[in-house]
Amino acid sequence: MALKIQEKNNKQNLKIYDFKNFSGPSFPITYSFRQNIRSFIQENAQECCTDEEGVKIWITCLENNGVKIPLYTIEESIQHSYKPYCRICSYTGWSVHLVSKRRYRLIIPNSDKWDKQLPSVVDLDNDSTYLLHGVIHCNGFGHLLCISGNQEKGSKHLCGYEVMDLWDRLCTNLGTRSISVKDMSNIKGAGTMSLGLLYGVANGQSRFAKWNYRFHNGAYGLDLKRFEAAIRTLGAINLNEVVENMAIKDNSDSRKINVLIGKYRLWNRVNMITLRDLLKFMISLLKAATDRHANLEASNYSLDRLLSASEDVNSVRHDIAYLCEHVSRSYLKKPAFVILRNNYFVKEWKIKDEGDKVLKFMCPVRLFLSPTYYGDRLISKLPQSLELGELVVLPLNATIGDLKVAAENCYRDTYFVMGTFQVTGVEGLNHLEDGVLVREHMKSGGQLWLQGTEIQHTVRFLYQGFQLVNCICGAKAQDGQKMQECDICHYWMHRRCKSEKYRYLSICKNCA
Ligand SMILES: [Zn+2]
Ligand SMILES: [Zn+2]
Ligand SMILES: [Zn+2]
Repeated sequence: MALKIQEKNNKQNLKIYDFKNFSGPSFPITYSFRQNIRSFIQENAQECCTDEEGVKIWITCLENNGVKIPLYTIEESIQHSYKPYCRICSYTGWSVHLVSKRRYRLIIPNSDKWDKQLPSVVDLDNDSTYLLHGVIHCNGFGHLLCISGNQEKGSKHLCGYEVMDLWDRLCTNLGTRSISVKDMSNIKGAGTMSLGLLYGVANGQSRFAKWNYRFHNGAYGLDLKRFEAAIRTLGAINLNEVVENMAIKDNSDSRKINVLIGKYRLWNRVNMITLRDLLKFMISLLKAATDRHANLEASNYSLDRLLSASEDVNSVRHDIAYLCEHVSRSYLKKPAFVILRNNYFVKEWKIKDEGDKVLKFMCPVRLFLSPTYYGDRLISKLPQSLELGELVVLPLNATIGDLKVAAENCYRDTYFVMGTFQVTGVEGLNHLEDGVLVREHMKSGGQLWLQGTEIQHTVRFLYQGFQLVNCICGAKAQDGQKMQECDICHYWMHRRCKSEKYRYLSICKNCA
């Protein structure tokens, strides 16, 4: 079923915003994402018609160099969702986040689809050509799923970094708390080496580092230390050594690699010693050829020579893919491929304290979960607190009673299982009457632990990920790799990490 997108008002009445400066609503005070996204929809977007239950769609019209670009905001109610849980939250290590009531998608379709209807929500995830596709849960945690169709060059109307800049401005202005992005592979044929890693090897940091995204977690318990070590190892590979090794192998692939290395060495006026040098140069060629704003004079090679050699973007891309595929295959052991392809980068936004205008508190909660059953199995290892907290914003003259009501409303509006949640106390302030002013006892910007009533402990819609992971490799959360449950301790482990001792039983190495 295709969605019927029809602007309620005539398209002529649609307000148009400048793409390069657009950052959503201008707030006198910033609240939490949950509240800010509503202001954004009210102030900057126009509702579209849809007949899907639990789905609302708005459109914002942005203009760049005379071209009109649609930005869609889609609100999905989790209660009606075909996919209430978020796998990417689990992969990012956020599986113990409670399921949020709503999630918002921000989408700019590829330019060839600007005049067409958006597909139904069920089909939104099947398209990987979006110029922008981000999803943010109403608790302010979200994921950047696709940027520029995962193409570095973007589209003919927008550069990749222009879209990324827009996304970053929107996230900041909407009070987003954390966004994760998978180190996305976009080079056809470069199956063993993602673009993210390629950037890591070439520049010592991720493609998203410019926007302050930092390595967060990888598959098989990969941590920052091991990630950086792998990047260093690959980057430091000596090109002369590669050439020698390939000459010894002397097959069609190795001969091709040596021709390729020779070709780029000839083009670059600077002597290249390591794989990092070579990849850096190749990326600079790619960038110069695709980036309209590149300052060609500043680079240290001659574009004329490149053009006369009829080199184009695609052949550089192809060369990078080919080189990465074969060099990393020769220099990394197989498991390293898997590890290096599944990394998540995360950007966190800190609360902006506006203590002269409002009081802001981060309020985590001690949960009271009664024993929960999953099928016929007792789940006893669920966390007993919501350390994540929620941002509660209060007027300067708010009382402790006001704080409790505001925190209650905040949790009720955010999480599915907390619809009837009640705050029974505030740790450290419990000796005070409800009528006492909060600011006399607590400075704005601080943290206040709440105590509350038992939450609706249904398994349905409780946590984003339900599998509790404790694998021998160090993984403490799902990471997109195949997993199975240990029959003894009931923790989940990677299939690859299970004990070999009992081939036909599912038993982890800790229990074996
Ligand atoms: Zn998620
Ligand atoms: Zn494992
Ligand atoms: Zn076990």
